[in-house]
Amino acid sequence: MITNEIYPFLQAYALIIGLVVGSFLNVVIYRIPNNKSIVKPRSKCTGCENQIAWYDNIPIISYIILLAKCRNCKAPISIRYPLVEFICGMMTLMLLNIYGPSFEFIAVVFICYMLIAITFIDVDYFIIPNEFIIFGFVVSIIAHGFNLLPLTLAQGFYGLITFGGILFLMGTLGTFIFKKEAMGLGDVKLGLVLGSFLGAELSLLALFFSFIFGGFMSLILLITKEVGDDHMIPFGPSISAATLLTLLTKTVGGGNYIINWYFTNMWNGEYIF
Ligand SMILES: [Zn+2]
Repeated sequence: MITNEIYPFLQAYALIIGLVVGSFLNVVIYRIPNNKSIVKPRSKCTGCENQIAWYDNIPIISYIILLAKCRNCKAPISIRYPLVEFICGMMTLMLLNIYGPSFEFIAVVFICYMLIAITFIDVDYFIIPNEFIIFGFVVSIIAHGFNLLPLTLAQGFYGLITFGGILFLMGTLGTFIFKKEAMGLGDVKLGLVLGSFLGAELSLLALFFSFIFGGFMSLILLITKEVGDDHMIPFGPSISAATLLTLLTKTVGGGNYIINWYFTNMWNGEYIF
């Protein structure tokens, strides 16, 4: 067992791993939609094409030391790079604290990284590349194959049908009402992957928050005139945020704090799930 004395070191390790993965995700977010290799060549400055030295590529720290400018050409470096690294580091640390050092933690953390990358890509390009769907299914198959999740294979399958199926039905309904494509197929495919991880109950919770987040995001974007009425609003970020919220409110044994709270307060202790 992991003793209390070494747990802080484990947390520090998780944070560092998360920051480094965040740095890699920046490469993934930039290259996957452009069909470029994510392993080579090494990262270059987008201004002067100069290869970035390892000491200028340290998550967050380099951004601060370089004062957000390229060492060579002084082109500004986007705040997004340290932001992705920060989110990735903090999520890894928080998930470790919730799931503990377990195989379930590793499975969940991989899905979390996938969702962070999808969020930024969907905002930029309005697509969820199939690479992520395949990655998610591979993680799901491994997790179910080795029994790493508090779910049976059947429960995973019900989740897949629930999350993917409801998104598909909403999309079809939206297309029928608005006479244009209301939801991308990428969103439905992402729903299938996430549902297989969450099971039906948590899928419903994640869907509920997806629509709340999506509604808020649409409202804000329409008010600030960031999109015209005819433009699409990416739904991937809302699905991702809702799923992360669901994963972050897990209780011991696979339950969820929000579901518990809802049924103890709204239904006077009658807990049906
Ligand atoms: Zn440069």
